[in-house]
Amino acid sequence: MAAIILEGKPLAERLRNEIAEQTAAFTARTGVTPCLAAVLVGDDPASQVYVRNKQKACEKAGIRSQMHHLSAATTTSELLGLIARLNGDASVHGILVQLPLPKGCNEKQVLDAVTPLKDVDAFHPENVGLLMQGRPRFLPCTPHGCLQFLLSAGVETRGAEVVIVGRSDIVGKPLAAMLIQKGRGGDATVTVCHSRTRDLAQVTRRADILVVAIGRPQFVTGAMVKPGATVIDVGINRVDGRLVGDVDFDSAAAVAGAITPVPGGVGLLTVTMLLKNTLTAAELQTAG
Ligand code: NDP
Repeated sequence: MAAIILEGKPLAERLRNEIAEQTAAFTARTGVTPCLAAVLVGDDPASQVYVRNKQKACEKAGIRSQMHHLSAATTTSELLGLIARLNGDASVHGILVQLPLPKGCNEKQVLDAVTPLKDVDAFHPENVGLLMQGRPRFLPCTPHGCLQFLLSAGVETRGAEVVIVGRSDIVGKPLAAMLIQKGRGGDATVTVCHSRTRDLAQVTRRADILVVAIGRPQFVTGAMVKPGATVIDVGINRVDGRLVGDVDFDSAAAVAGAITPVPGGVGLLTVTMLLKNTLTAAELQTAG
């Protein structure tokens, strides 16, 4: 069996066009141009590329972007000062702190300082709580991107057995919270696995939908996939100068019914959902 490849590019393009249209309508109605402020600390080349891609995507969607690039020597309190200024700046609607921060910075403290209405990554405890209760203000970008693949490919989540490998606050936990909600794109039976899971392959082989976000290159092989399953590979790993996912694409694609590629998969959707959240943030702040 050869799996259908769920390409991120056409899906991201369609959604970005929709967001651009909604942004243009919002700006025409209110005179306000949504604005995303990106905070980048240090000189990590991958982080620089991610932030640049996010800024380019903003421009194309009619969203303004600001870049605050600080040296790796920046202290937590300097960073908190910048976040406070951005929180108070009415022309900024979304604040993105590119992770990881350098070792000396207190990541939790910095992320918690972003005012919840501008927290377009949906990392703030208030936004996480709203998500858990099924009344999200913002959907977290990467999990929302995963969900978009399932919705656009017509993969039914209701009653489906979903296995998520990885329990991070950025991907695994919020995705589980989304998939167990009632309604469209939810109603799934979700199992979350991690490094302490016993007999991982036995669990993953149960999955109608298997999502992998562990940061281990090509870790999940075809032998761990149920025939016909939908496989969403969140992983981004650089191996010998090449990007690969957490799933061994060739062996998994031979067994799965559908699979996302890396590159060209979830990453494109993560950026797209950030645009959506920035527009939502501008709408909420303008309405308020
Ligand atoms: P984290 O390092 O925060 O979390 C990794 C998770 O995987 C942990 O829960 C860990 O378990 C689990 N894990 C690690 N090894 C194993 C194993 N051998 N078996 C089972 N579980 C394991 O990673 P992130 O969630 O931040 O990122 C995961 C991957 O997704 C990375 O490759 C990252 O680059 C990518 N990513 C991609 C994005 C995109 O837009 N496409 C966005 C964000 C991340 P434990 O908790 O027990 O340690």
